[in-house]
Amino acid sequence: MESALTARDRVGVQDFVLLENYNSEAAFIENLRRRFKENLIYTYIGSVLVSVNPYKELEIYSKQQMERYRGVSFYEISPHIYAVSDNTYRAMRTERKDQCILISGESGAGKTEASKKILLYYAVTCPANDHMAALGDRLLQSNPVLEAFGNAKTLRNDNSSRFGKYMDVQFDFRGTPVGGHILNYLLEKSRVVHQNQGERNFHIFYQLLDGGDDNLLSTLDLERNPQNYHYMVKGNCPRVSSINDKNNWKVVMKALPVIGFTEQEVQKLLNIIAGVLHLGNTQFGEGEEGETYITTETQIMTLAKLLGVDGSALREALTHKKLTAKGEEMISPLNFEQAVCARDALAKAVYGRTFTWLVEKINQSLAVKVGISIIILWGCCCDLPFNCMMGLLDIYGFEVLQHNSFEQFCINYCNEKLQQLFIELTLRSEQEEYETEGIAWETVKYFDNKIICDLIEEKHKGIISILDEECLRPGETCDVSFLEKLEDTLSGHPHFVTHKLANGKTRRVMSREEFRLLHYAGEVNYNVNGTVSCNLSLDQSVMCQSDNQILSHCFRKEEVIDQKRQEMAATQFKNSLMKLMEILMSKEPSYVRCIKPNDAKQPGKFDEVLVRHQVKYLGLMENLRVRRAGFAYRRRFEAFLQRYKPLCPETWPNWNGRLVDGVSLLVNHLGYKPEEYKLGRSKIFIRFPKTLFTTEDALEAK
Ligand code: ADP
Ligand code: MG
Repeated sequence: MESALTARDRVGVQDFVLLENYNSEAAFIENLRRRFKENLIYTYIGSVLVSVNPYKELEIYSKQQMERYRGVSFYEISPHIYAVSDNTYRAMRTERKDQCILISGESGAGKTEASKKILLYYAVTCPANDHMAALGDRLLQSNPVLEAFGNAKTLRNDNSSRFGKYMDVQFDFRGTPVGGHILNYLLEKSRVVHQNQGERNFHIFYQLLDGGDDNLLSTLDLERNPQNYHYMVKGNCPRVSSINDKNNWKVVMKALPVIGFTEQEVQKLLNIIAGVLHLGNTQFGEGEEGETYITTETQIMTLAKLLGVDGSALREALTHKKLTAKGEEMISPLNFEQAVCARDALAKAVYGRTFTWLVEKINQSLAVKVGISIIILWGCCCDLPFNCMMGLLDIYGFEVLQHNSFEQFCINYCNEKLQQLFIELTLRSEQEEYETEGIAWETVKYFDNKIICDLIEEKHKGIISILDEECLRPGETCDVSFLEKLEDTLSGHPHFVTHKLANGKTRRVMSREEFRLLHYAGEVNYNVNGTVSCNLSLDQSVMCQSDNQILSHCFRKEEVIDQKRQEMAATQFKNSLMKLMEILMSKEPSYVRCIKPNDAKQPGKFDEVLVRHQVKYLGLMENLRVRRAGFAYRRRFEAFLQRYKPLCPETWPNWNGRLVDGVSLLVNHLGYKPEEYKLGRSKIFIRFPKTLFTTEDALEAK
């Protein structure tokens, strides 16, 4: 067996709890760096896996490697994503409890790759049947489709997922994966209409222009050159060397029928994609009396045809707004800026809703088939091992940009919630373990971020509630009055600051359009510009009449017309987060924390400043402190005996008595002092890493 600890000078420790100086961030990062240089990208903090993106293919994901990790306990073998996959799967089967693996980290850190590796591990190692083969096919095929519509090239990652994804894989009583379900969160819709320098829109637009045949493009009235489309030129980045749009187009077109799309549906889907591009090219002019009109008349007819709506209704929707006052409908013209805003809002809504429809469609194809459901019902009645779920969460980490808007606010709120869940569950499981092992619990000091979650989500006086109120207030609403309302309600809150409240006392200058939140991971300034308008529900009823069934399904009349029942974007997000938290709370969690070693996407380069930020934002030091609060190391009696029995004549070569007696003899023989360890019911707990190192050295010397 590989001796994990003896090579520690060169390759560091494979579990951070073994660091002598576990309070030192420098020691933590040095350990990561040493291992990274040796291509050891995985390290544990107890059962949490820390992963550093190698930016190169490593020979550690083969089928043989999968076999090595099957059924092997965590600490006996080098850390690996397969170890997490395998342990979680076994826990699900033996404890019959739903599991989830939470993968976090910033963009480009390797989250999506990690989730793919976990899925692949299950696809290869789990018992299979025919149904499984078909399901596996659909699961694998759904990936390129989701990526085409939900991923984009960003500065940080050429294939960055621009939505959060929670996926449930359902297993039957034999441990065979039989179904799946995907929940999508917060697609970055602003990307449809705007991209930063060096970034692109969603892949599908480039794939269509590059890969679609001449005939198709002409029916969609599209030209090949992406530079002709306003929604594709903002980033000035039509081609990316690492991306083959033409090939990816073929893959997507092949995958769509496999996951159940009819030829007609594909056509309708492409009409919408082309429609969004034409919408972007719709231009406005300003008349003499300040009225707005459309200058691209031919375009609007094509657009109307593609979206399946009436041309004049569309024209009206882009240049006028409908107001309802005292039950009476009034039409008033939009000014130039408002018209541009309405156009972009429509493009975002069309794309966003179509994406949700696409995910629903994929879910139908992944749903457990009737035959299997019957088996499950019957299984429950007869008290056979019931089926279990394995959840995978792949969601963006804490985000701090130059300019942070409503989207970053939602993302960081989500991370705040996940941190809360993490604290709660880690402390809980730590406590539970001590209790089941009969060892006294010692309280751990840690920062509880509940105060920040409350600041955001509390009823009536939380930021989201205040935003809702502002959006629903009759009359002119605006971003500045939203900020003032925040100041009135939240002044004095220790985690909320604005220019006015700070009174010049902050280190960094704040503008009058910002508020600052002191998140658990650091401070972030959010600009309120566009926050209220981003949350306002625009009149999109024109889409309800579309004869494109995807669109008429996405824009239901009842929902679009009844303004009151329509939820504001922020509340919608809050509610879906609450649901996610509920799902996660009901499961046994495992954690994968991903770290990006450099901004250049280069192998071998370890940027310490960048890594330090992530260690902080991921709360890894906090995590280590919790884990180390009591005992650094714990191991089941049999594993401990198995490894160290050669060190004691009474346990060597075999110990036939009670396990606890064998361990007791062994540690007495090794001279452990009573304060250095405790024996629980099934495990030995060792307080300091040093004790274990000495024992390891003794083993090595033998
Ligand atoms: P995220 O989902 O966190 O934004 P990705 O999983 O898309 O990041 O990873 C970004 C890129 O980094 C991938 O396209 C791949 O090139 C590289 N990468 C990530 N993880 C690994 C890995 N384990 N081995 C090799 N390359 C990786
Ligand atoms: Mg990703």
